[in-house]
Amino acid sequence: MRTRFAPSPTGFLHVGGLRTALYSFLIARQTKGTFLLRIEDTDQARSVPGTVENILKTLDWAGIRPDEGVVPDNGQVAQKGAKGPYIQSERQGLGLYRKYADELVAKGHAYPCFCTSQRLEEMRKTQEAKKQAPMYDRLCLKLSAEEVRKRIAAGEPHVIRLKVPHERTITFTDEIRGEMRFQGHTIDDQVLLKSDGFPTYHLAHVADDRLMEIDLVIRGEEWLSSLPKHLLLFEYLGWPPPKYAHVPLLLNKDRSKLSKRQSAVAAEDYIAKGYLPEALLNFLALLGWNPGTTQELFSMDELVEAFSLDRVQKAGAVFDTEKLDWLQGQWMRKIPLKEFTVRIRPIVAGAYPAAAADPAFEKKAALIRERITFFAEAPAMLGYFYEEPQPTVELLANEKQKVTKALLPGALQKIEEILREIPEKEWNEERVLAAVKAEVAKGEWKLGQLLWPLRASLTGRPFSPGAVEVACALAAERGTEAVFERLERGKAVATR
Ligand code: GLU
Repeated sequence: MRTRFAPSPTGFLHVGGLRTALYSFLIARQTKGTFLLRIEDTDQARSVPGTVENILKTLDWAGIRPDEGVVPDNGQVAQKGAKGPYIQSERQGLGLYRKYADELVAKGHAYPCFCTSQRLEEMRKTQEAKKQAPMYDRLCLKLSAEEVRKRIAAGEPHVIRLKVPHERTITFTDEIRGEMRFQGHTIDDQVLLKSDGFPTYHLAHVADDRLMEIDLVIRGEEWLSSLPKHLLLFEYLGWPPPKYAHVPLLLNKDRSKLSKRQSAVAAEDYIAKGYLPEALLNFLALLGWNPGTTQELFSMDELVEAFSLDRVQKAGAVFDTEKLDWLQGQWMRKIPLKEFTVRIRPIVAGAYPAAAADPAFEKKAALIRERITFFAEAPAMLGYFYEEPQPTVELLANEKQKVTKALLPGALQKIEEILREIPEKEWNEERVLAAVKAEVAKGEWKLGQLLWPLRASLTGRPFSPGAVEVACALAAERGTEAVFERLERGKAVATR
């Protein structure tokens, strides 16, 4: 299949757009077809310079590489393929869209409209006041051929509108929504060509999907109401329409339309936050698509294998960032330790230069791999290996672990005694944990009451790998005295 992603370069790539691109890409891969990228910039007023570069960079980051159309070339925007140009403003220069607008007028399926924006605005207000749906009132359809000719010859600005057949019912089968029916009289006479000679999206994309031989159009639900106009255009131009699949809207948790106010909507914001491409893609794939199994983690290859439009839901899909973070954690754990080490070392070294040449860095990295969500958290999670922690009494005591300030000195004393009894040579996680548990078994102390103050003394942080893991890592690197020194400092703070 030939599928396409056709963003308008209005500033950034919306996460919903990235999902549309992903679905289109998956179908192309699945069918050993072609995924094409086209830029729809006929609305020049809304085009923002630099967006195309951004879109290409984001798609590249995500591993969604166009086979044809607008493609990246060493950070530059290039075009590839025999059906170009693939940027609509360049196609416009070729007079390509005007030709179809003229053809539609000649066949009686479209007409020039001279109404000024002021008149249209007044009409809209009147309709609104009467609680009518906003629709062009067809004033210019009543003009005689002669008058139209004269006004055009006089250079009067005008647009070309589609003449929607009011008496017809337009039916269509959407790949996701099934059979759809649209009543002609409810459809507005859409502007096809603007007074500046540029086509609207409606005319431009229909012509381009035809000329670029697109088999399947996957796009957002917001276009569904325009579908009958597009189907009419295909019919009137004598072309078979492609298949269409309208994917569900993305919603905030409160089921309102996903908005900047509640979540980041630009894909690049998620990149900047440190999400892995695997995690974001996995998340977007599941936004509206249900694999029909309990599998939740999908690599791109697995998505190519498993994805199908008939398992995409019609209802809006809630953008649940907790799920995204969970997936992020899952994908983090999948990074092999060696690679994980390589990736976090420069980040940690940025805050703690000693990490750069630390021969035991991989061991430390292993401690946080199971807990980390973003690479950027690594310095905070490992910093205590490179600087002496400064625990406060507020941190050492912990209500949840039932460590009161009164209990704290005794708890630190106890854990020190337990650790001192283990000969240096025998220090390992199993042995140390067994010793603490043996004490807990006597009934006076709870596990958390001993381990929390130990962990807090060793790290000075509210979050870190477990107490026993940190103690053993410190002991292995610098000897058990390093552990006892930190415990002493904890005790001093606790009794101050
Ligand atoms: N240019 C349109 C947009 O950015 C594309 C819609 C479509 O895929 O047909 O929303």
